Amino acid sequence: MNDLQKIVQLVEEKKDKWVDVSKQIWRFAETRFEEVQSAALLCEVLESEGFEVEKGLADMPTAFVGSYGSGSPVIAFLGEYDALSGLSQEGGTADPSPIEQGGNGHGCGHNLLGTGSLAAAVALKDLMVQEGLPGTIRYYGCPAEEGGSGKTYMTRAGIFDDVDFALCWHPWSTNEIFTGNSLANYQIYYRFKGKSAHAAAAPHLGRSALDAVELMNVGVNYLREHIIPEARVHYAITNSGGFSPNVVQAEAEVLYLIRAPKTPQVQEIYERVCNIAKGAALMTGTEVEIVFDKACSNLIPNTTIETKMHEVFNEIGLPDYSEEELAFAQQLQATLSQADIENDMGKLPKEVADQLKGKAMADVINPYNPDSTPSIFGSTDVGDVSWVTPTAQLFGACWVLGTPAHTWQVVSIGDTSIAEKGMLLAGKVMAGTALEMLKQPELIEKSKKELKERLGDNVYKCPIPDHIIPASNEKN
Ligand SMILES: [Zn+2]
Repeated sequence: MNDLQKIVQLVEEKKDKWVDVSKQIWRFAETRFEEVQSAALLCEVLESEGFEVEKGLADMPTAFVGSYGSGSPVIAFLGEYDALSGLSQEGGTADPSPIEQGGNGHGCGHNLLGTGSLAAAVALKDLMVQEGLPGTIRYYGCPAEEGGSGKTYMTRAGIFDDVDFALCWHPWSTNEIFTGNSLANYQIYYRFKGKSAHAAAAPHLGRSALDAVELMNVGVNYLREHIIPEARVHYAITNSGGFSPNVVQAEAEVLYLIRAPKTPQVQEIYERVCNIAKGAALMTGTEVEIVFDKACSNLIPNTTIETKMHEVFNEIGLPDYSEEELAFAQQLQATLSQADIENDMGKLPKEVADQLKGKAMADVINPYNPDSTPSIFGSTDVGDVSWVTPTAQLFGACWVLGTPAHTWQVVSIGDTSIAEKGMLLAGKVMAGTALEMLKQPELIEKSKKELKERLGDNVYKCPIPDHIIPASNEKN
């Protein structure tokens, strides 16, 4: 049995444990910075596996690191475990049926993500024990990937500075190396303050903060035509000033999320959005407070690790699904629109799309081509980690082909054996990749050199201003 086969076996041996952990985190469904039970469970497992755990990193009670071994190399596995609000959903059903109306749900599969990375860390540790391999294994518990940028704060605090390389993954509908870039982003609250008045008796005495929010949004919607097409600007009105139309709204708030391929591009758009907010305040006689919430950097890919990861991925291969699993996948796929499915398939290389046509689950590993893969139209705080240490990620098929992220279908399948197979696969590929890197220190050096070359003269500058601390700007 070679070492890679041993890794596969070691993950399989503790399979029941990983399935149980994933299911528990799925049920906890805790949102950003509130992942108390999820973090406690992961820490408990780490400790029981002989890892030394440090909690409360970078001012975040639900951020932690579990460490095993000593000396170099220092290998990091990144785990996430936060859920999304409003996506409560029964597991393993093909109907939209919330467990609790308006409750939380794992709509991005982070119950699998956190557990799959843990399975990788523990399998590598088990092999280390068996074979007396050198090095330090760290499992980083990273909170608030969704709208909180936990890893950005952790990167700012220098937590990844001595890491030799980092590995992560994300549940997806395909099996592939996650390469190319992700979008840098800023998230900002615009809080308007006006003056309340009786809307009929004395409207001339009032100054409407809600008017200011609406005018700001109109202004930004005109701005869209004059920014780079790769940029994305979204907003949510987080305080509309109350339920009474007969009161001039004295307070209102809108939360903006601005994305672009590079941080300086986000900065430029951010400044223009701030000017629009100031203009809206001027127009309405209100005042605006601009409160930076969070940000994350674009991702720096690493071909050296990605190439190795792809090799390992192919060597390990894909899981088989039972007829029952495939039947459920088909039922779930039937709830997706043709447009969803076409959108997903349209991103695949043509030969892969042809092979997957008419299927509910991906049964191929996409070819790895670092040059042809387009940017991911989303953001991840793994981006910040990738600026300070060589980082690679994979996508493991856990979802039905065509599934958009952040939907009830993701929540539903996230509690089934289909998704759990994808999770175990990801754990094996990550542990196998780490092992290969560990056995070939020259690859670690090469990956570091590559990162240096990609960064050139750019040094990592945290996109979140120094005075902003995690979740400090949430009003409730
Ligand atoms: Zn996610």
